[in-house]
Amino acid sequence: MSQRLVLASNNAKKAFEMQTLLAPLELEIVPQARLGVDEAEEPHFTFIENALAKARHAAAVTGLPAIADDSGLCVAALGGAPGVLSARFAGEPKSDERNNLFLIEQLSGVPESERNAWYYCCLVLVRHADDPCPMIADGQWHGLILDVPRGEGGFGYDPLFWLPELKKSAAELDSAHKNDLSHRGIAMRRLLERLQEQPLFKKPEQF
Ligand code: IMP
Repeated sequence: MSQRLVLASNNAKKAFEMQTLLAPLELEIVPQARLGVDEAEEPHFTFIENALAKARHAAAVTGLPAIADDSGLCVAALGGAPGVLSARFAGEPKSDERNNLFLIEQLSGVPESERNAWYYCCLVLVRHADDPCPMIADGQWHGLILDVPRGEGGFGYDPLFWLPELKKSAAELDSAHKNDLSHRGIAMRRLLERLQEQPLFKKPEQF
């Protein structure tokens, strides 16, 4: 039977992107909900701390290695907001549509030259809940924020995330193209490189 790795995310669209990016590992990637894992608390001010909290939580509940992503959008004109609060920018309950409307409002009147933003993704993989050496990789993706949504693909802020060189929003890219360019794709390729140097399933004495 193949080795299992828990995917510590309940965001179905994000989990789909991660599963596609993890395919080269040839592991059985199991979404945490299938193993009865609830959402972890994300009380921290940095992506890395929240990603670690999610990965540890999933590993603690399942006893399996776990991978988590904490990601978000940082807008220069808003001092890096919404950042770690991206999923809940417009308050509870989480809603991509309300977040996008709120972002449009927050940037109303801001000229195009000041609408730069970047997505950030931090990936953390733990072999077990108390792993003292988590594997960590990150990635960034730069663009501009539109004032009218465009496209139907992706998720979250993708309809407002404009890629000037492509003349498309992130929601107008097909999923393979988004994975090629995105913060999550960059972070995942870096993590996969690390995993080639340090395979996950070695005996403890080999670490
Ligand atoms: P998390 O699940 O707590 O990491 O929240 C991530 C939030 O950041 C999502 O709910 C989106 O609002 C935003 N986000 C992260 N990555 C992306 C992306 O690839 N496209 C669009 N929005 C994203």
